[in-house]
Amino acid sequence: MSVNVEQKKTGLEDIRLYIKQVLDLIEKENITEEEAQWVTRETVDGFREYVNPGFLEYRKTVTKDQQFAAVEWSDSGSCFTDVTGKKYIDCLGGFGIYNVGHRNPKVIKAVKDQLNRQALHSQDLLDPLRAMLAKILAHITPGDLKYAFFTNSGTESVEAALKLAKMYSDRSTIISTTKAFHGKSLGSLSGTAKGVFRKPFLPLVSGFRHIPFGDIDMMRKTFETCALVGEDVGAVILEPIQGEGGINIPPEGYLKQVRELCDEYDAILIFDEVQTGMGRTGKMFAAELFDVVPDIICLAKAFGGGVMPAGAVVAKEKVFKNWFKDPFVHTTTFGGNPIACAAAIATIDILLEEKLPERAAEVGEYFINGLREAAKGHEDKVLDIRGKGLMIGVEFHKDEIGYEVSKGMFDNGVLVAGTLVNSKTIRIEPPLTISYEEVDTVIQTFKKVLETVKVQ
Ligand SMILES: *Cc1c(COP(=O)(O)O)cnc(C)c1O
Repeated sequence: MSVNVEQKKTGLEDIRLYIKQVLDLIEKENITEEEAQWVTRETVDGFREYVNPGFLEYRKTVTKDQQFAAVEWSDSGSCFTDVTGKKYIDCLGGFGIYNVGHRNPKVIKAVKDQLNRQALHSQDLLDPLRAMLAKILAHITPGDLKYAFFTNSGTESVEAALKLAKMYSDRSTIISTTKAFHGKSLGSLSGTAKGVFRKPFLPLVSGFRHIPFGDIDMMRKTFETCALVGEDVGAVILEPIQGEGGINIPPEGYLKQVRELCDEYDAILIFDEVQTGMGRTGKMFAAELFDVVPDIICLAKAFGGGVMPAGAVVAKEKVFKNWFKDPFVHTTTFGGNPIACAAAIATIDILLEEKLPERAAEVGEYFINGLREAAKGHEDKVLDIRGKGLMIGVEFHKDEIGYEVSKGMFDNGVLVAGTLVNSKTIRIEPPLTISYEEVDTVIQTFKKVLETVKVQ
């Protein structure tokens, strides 16, 4: 039943009863079978009538036959559970947000403690956690990265980085790469490479040039050509390892050479570490893997510990100081709020205390070796298995095979990132706390599913 205009005027009593029902549901720790059925029905109807029916089509592609309503309910550790009580090992990890696990108790504690005192900031008095988190970040980020601006998401971090770079260089040419993903707001989308995401919104921010990721000759020629025509390059934006683009690791020496070109032309190097940051690749930041210090680093996804939406840009003083004179030149109401900062501080503490970046490197190697072993004899299906730390990609010969494998794994209780939209490469990005037993289960499931998938 959908809402008609009459009902909207007279039906507030009904919607208040509904709100009460929903609030009661939120309060519940466990639900009965009957309640689970109600939740499933309301969720499917709600998506169809009020969210976007397109999602139901999309979700159907990863669930079993008409049982297209896998509705999530709770999560902890490396797993989440749907309303029917079925447990999944989460190797999608919200595209890399659960580095410290689902609802890590230390993050929850810090957030709850802060929440009990103050949730959001006044916007006028000085808020302490912002200052403290900025200091911590200056210490853990590479080189002389120093000043921090806080955001609520990855795309906002990229927007802030682009504005910092533009203000520093007073130039409008920005080099991005093919297969890059930097977000979907108009500025960051200009840097994103995927045609289907960009085309309906053209023209985007002017000055962006996309060149092939990993091609240093092309990068050099673009710098030269832009200088010759008076459109000097102001910045280069890169993911040190491309995530959405299919776990693409740059060729040896590439990022160092890009750094040298930026220095030669006094252009800003932006590392978008929204996905690679916070220990994912086996180092706290992927910049360290390649021994390169960018001028600006963008963070989000795992930054809020999988509990709070939170992001940041950290920049060198020479770049950031343009915002000293007028700090209101770029602002956000919620960015850097006390509960987000509390979550980020607890997250960094866990990463350091439990040495999770090192653990990601170790477990990642074990995981990749196991997957390669499992793929033996399936060379007609699997083209390549690659990764750094717990940022792993499995590339198939065809999109359809990747789709069948991710669907098969989902049916067997393992969630990987791969949909009909693009499953030629599926991504495995579990919590960095994932146990070896869970890794073994995923590898065995992968092996079992590979054996059942037919090459058409
Ligand atoms: C996910 C992602 C973004 C966008 O982050 P949102 O929080 O979804 O806006 C930007 N850059 C990279 C590298 C990402 O992986």
